[in-house]
Amino acid sequence: MRCARCLEPVLKDVSSSFDLIYRPQGSEKRPDEASISEAETEIGFYQGNGLLLEDVIKEQLLLAVPLRVVCRDECKGLCPQCGRNRNLESCNCSSQLPDPRWAALEDIKNKLKH
Ligand SMILES: [Zn+2]
Ligand SMILES: [Zn+2]
Repeated sequence: MRCARCLEPVLKDVSSSFDLIYRPQGSEKRPDEASISEAETEIGFYQGNGLLLEDVIKEQLLLAVPLRVVCRDECKGLCPQCGRNRNLESCNCSSQLPDPRWAALEDIKNKLKH
């Protein structure tokens, strides 16, 4: 995965356990299986001789992967102005430069003052 701050590659171990229950399509539920609550366990159906688990595993894996990782807690990330990786080099950009998205609000503030 990529670090959410500096975009460097991050290795992330993922561990997840889950139950998957599949039945052949059209099979009737037998009484001895009634103890499995369908609300708790999703039951899938397959046609023919079986099914490929590859897609199912992929889906489960994607669910287990965190949405956001950082390479380390103290990662300084990229400079929002020049894009340099601030873990590797420092830059001379001013951190006080106003965010252009606030410029419109700044205008309004100045107009209200005058
Ligand atoms: Zn990072
Ligand atoms: Zn910079």
